[in-house]
Amino acid sequence: MNLKLLIKSFILWELMVGLAITLKYFFKRKVTIDYPYEKGPISPRFRGEHMLRRYESGEERCIDCKLCEAICPAQAITIEGGARQDDGSRRTTKYDIDMTKCIYCGYCQEACPVDAIVEGSNLEFATESHEELLYNKAKLIDNGERWEFEVERNIKADAAYR
Ligand code: SF4
Ligand code: SF4
Repeated sequence: MNLKLLIKSFILWELMVGLAITLKYFFKRKVTIDYPYEKGPISPRFRGEHMLRRYESGEERCIDCKLCEAICPAQAITIEGGARQDDGSRRTTKYDIDMTKCIYCGYCQEACPVDAIVEGSNLEFATESHEELLYNKAKLIDNGERWEFEVERNIKADAAYR
């Protein structure tokens, strides 16, 4: 056996090199985070869980134009609606998204003329069953109420680039 290799084996050279690298990075700034207790930054353009928004007055933004349904390449959106009896304005009676079909392309959000359907920054909506990912209007409106602050902030942060 080569003498150099023999000495390296004897002093456990590879192990020492490994320990030296560990020591070198031990005192450097950590690049990992303790998820889920710590969270990394998320872009204002991040396309996460969907929601339906309301105006400040409480009125639903969605006007049942069905542009989002038409543009969705995954055919994940199903809408039914019509004119309201009291004021004749168009509103949806059914707004479903099959989140297991969705490919998070963001086309629905881009197509919406009133910023009603948006993909927010929530990425923690994993479930244990398929049924839980079949979102209906109540679920989407509820998401909108919970995430409005973040959505508004993201829209403002990205406004200059739209
Ligand atoms: S993000 Fe894309 S695939 Fe998902 S619902 Fe919107 S348009 Fe359809
Ligand atoms: S969410 Fe927007 S694009 Fe879709 S039906 Fe409502 S108003 Fe039209």
